[in-house]
Amino acid sequence: MASLAEENYLKLIYHLSGSGADEVSTNALAEQTQTRAASVTDMLRKLAEKNLVHYKKYQGVRLTAEGQEVALQVIRRHRLWEVFMVQKLGFRWDEVHPIAEELEHIASEELINRLDAFLDFPVSDPHGDPIPTAAGKMPSAEYEKLCEVTAGKQVTMMGVSEHAASFLQFLSKAGLIPGSVVSVLEINDFDRSMLLKINESGPSFVSYEVARNILIKFSV
Ligand SMILES: [Zn+2]
Repeated sequence: MASLAEENYLKLIYHLSGSGADEVSTNALAEQTQTRAASVTDMLRKLAEKNLVHYKKYQGVRLTAEGQEVALQVIRRHRLWEVFMVQKLGFRWDEVHPIAEELEHIASEELINRLDAFLDFPVSDPHGDPIPTAAGKMPSAEYEKLCEVTAGKQVTMMGVSEHAASFLQFLSKAGLIPGSVVSVLEINDFDRSMLLKINESGPSFVSYEVARNILIKFSV
């Protein structure tokens, strides 16, 4: 069994490594956790003893198959709880992440599998991020960014790549939530801001920075 702090490390290594593919440096972990490199090293040694990571001093760290499995289960719980809070408890999508950070550490597999069934096996969380299956498979969700869409095209918003509450609140006000149908009317050459029609309401400008963090798929 991994402790709460250990689970958070495994999750962080998973995200920083691009879904477990690459090695992660001790410095990157120290920066993200805002702790000293020495405490990161302590933690990595502990995780290595439990066979959850491959770690050698002065080298990067990589998840073992077992570590990857734990990380994916934590991410699965986190995302299912977010769906539950938004769909069943009426939370807004900008409110659920900090609460899910706590709920994700309740380890009961029975609870999570029943939650999954209760929610009718959702494939993505309220931010559009894919939910790993009970078997620990991460569904692939390759979406394009809104900033890459050319004028005249219609797309469906699928999710976001930035999760800051202020960003999500801004999007909600503009009507930009997963499922929204967005038409790109014009793109400003100077700053690449976009004039959009969002569902049936319309036209509003979003900056390049906003468009870069919105994930879309082309409507068929
Ligand atoms: Zn979250």
